Formats: sequence, structure tokens, C-alpha cells
Amino acid sequence: MSYKYNKSTIFKIIQETELVKRFFFKIPDEIPFSFKAGQFIMLNLPIASKFTNRSYSIASSPSNDNTFELAIVLNPKGLGTPYLWENIDVGSEIDVSKALGKFTLIEPIEDDICFVCTGTGIAPLRSMLHYILNNNIPHKKIYMIFGNRWEKDIIYRKEMEDLAKVNPSFEYIPVLSRDSEGWTGRKGYVHPIYEEIFSDKRPATFYMCGWRDMLHEARQRLEAMGYDRKKIKFESYD
Ligand SMILES: Cc1cc2nc3c(=O)[nH]c(=O)nc-3n(C[C@H](O)[C@H](O)[C@H](O)COP(=O)(O)OP(=O)(O)OC[C@H]3O[C@@H](n4cnc5c(N)ncnc54)[C@H](O)[C@@H]3O)c2cc1C
Repeated sequence: MSYKYNKSTIFKIIQETELVKRFFFKIPDEIPFSFKAGQFIMLNLPIASKFTNRSYSIASSPSNDNTFELAIVLNPKGLGTPYLWENIDVGSEIDVSKALGKFTLIEPIEDDICFVCTGTGIAPLRSMLHYILNNNIPHKKIYMIFGNRWEKDIIYRKEMEDLAKVNPSFEYIPVLSRDSEGWTGRKGYVHPIYEEIFSDKRPATFYMCGWRDMLHEARQRLEAMGYDRKKIKFESYD
């Protein structure tokens, strides 16, 4: 499928962890651009001897200044991310699509929210979290269950810890699947954690993002707990 793309300029890059970079994009003010928290955009990249697109969830919350942020993990065996690592710097131009996708918040928010993610899958959930908190959107409890292998892989860690300190309604639960020395937080996979928190099967909406295997297992487990498919929203990265 061919899409319409607009030029954007990279105005900041943060090396967040060894393999993840945060890219900050600006689309010219004269171009109408808006998005809903949770949506993704496509980058049109000159790879594979032609322009080919790659999808990325927007990690920032909607703003009025035509800017947005992506959190991208390098896949050294891929084409798109090595291209970004080698060729894109502050000031570089990249073609971006309009915002796409239906992985957005169900509003009004009537139930507890449980965000479940791994790796850069936190991106659209971070966008939703900031949207809710920045705009004082009425909500109940919000849980962020964030799985990674190692402690060094955790992106947005300080930000999430700080948000949890000042927002009693927000609980941040990072979980590591590999042994990290000195780690006092949760260990293992994300699944037992939401099963524990929601063992009373109270009303909740689940927003999950990451790779297919994790999402598949989570959907099965939540449905087995009795949660309706309509309350389980997910975005798959593969
Ligand atoms: C809706 C959506 C949102 C997403 N959001 C994010 C996000 O926020 N952050 C993020 O980091 N990712 C995100 N992704 C994933 C992203 O779109 C890319 O898939 C990812 O960045 C890898 O792209 P790549 O071009 O580097 O790898 P690709 O070139 O797509 O390669 C992927 C794999 O394919 C294999 N491969 C590729 N070329 C060859 C070849 N010539 N021969 C043999 N094997 C090959 C390799 O094993 C490689 O590991 C999202 C995906 C979707 C669908």
C-alpha cells in the first residue's frame, strides 16, 4: 500500500540504553498533524534499494506543536534500524506518515487500567499515561507492568518511578526475566503479576504492547480469568 508522507526533522536524540534511542521529530507547522495517544506512524526509509516503510508507536502524548517522540530498539540484523543508527542525526530529515492505528484509550475511563508491555512496547502506553495525567482525565487505578530481560534494558525508568511517587493512582511494576545482581524488584515474566493484581476479577481494561508471543499468552490468560475480549486491547510489533 502506498502512503502519503511528510518531511520531518529530527531535533533531538537521546541514547536511552545500550540499544534504544529516543528520536524527537518536528513536522513543519504549516502541515496539519495530530494523533491520539497510542497511535503509530510509519517512517519511509531508503532501504532495500527502494523506499520501504517501518512502523513505530508514538511514545509522547499528543501536543499542539507538531512534535512527537519515538523509542526505537536497534535490531543489528534488520535493515531499518541500522539505517537509522548510521544515517540519522540531529538535523536529519525523514519522511513520516500521518498517525495510524486503533490502539487508543477507551473513553470515558470507567475501569482500572492495566498496561502490560515489554521493551519498546512501553512507547504507546507511555503516550496514554502522559495523556491521562497531563490532561487530568478522570481515571481509577493505573498499573504499568513492564517486562525486560536485564535492568540495563529498562527505558523511561526514572520518569516512571517519579510519576508513581507523585500520582497515588499510578503503580509502576518493572519485572526482569534474567537475574540482575542487586535487583530487589519483581522477577520473572509479566503474566503472574496482572493475574495477582486482578485475582478478584474486578472490572479492568488491559492495554498490551510488544511482541506477538507475549501478547498471545496474555490474551489467553486474561480470557481464562474471565475478561471480555473487548477489554483486552493490544498492539503487536511483529
Ligand atoms: C504498529 C507497530 C509499531 C511498532 N512500534 C515500534 C516501536 O515503537 N519501537 C520499536 O523499536 N519497534 C517498533 N515496531 C517494530 C518496527 O516496525 C520494526 O519491525 C523494527 O524496528 C525492526 O525493523 P528493522 O527494519 O530494523 O528490521 P527488519 O529489516 O524488518 O528485519 C527484522 C528481522 O527480519 C530478518 N531479516 C531482515 N532482512 C533480512 C534478510 N535480508 N535476510 C534474512 N533475514 C532478514 C532479520 O532476522 C531481522 O532480525 C513496531 C511495529 C509495528 C507493527
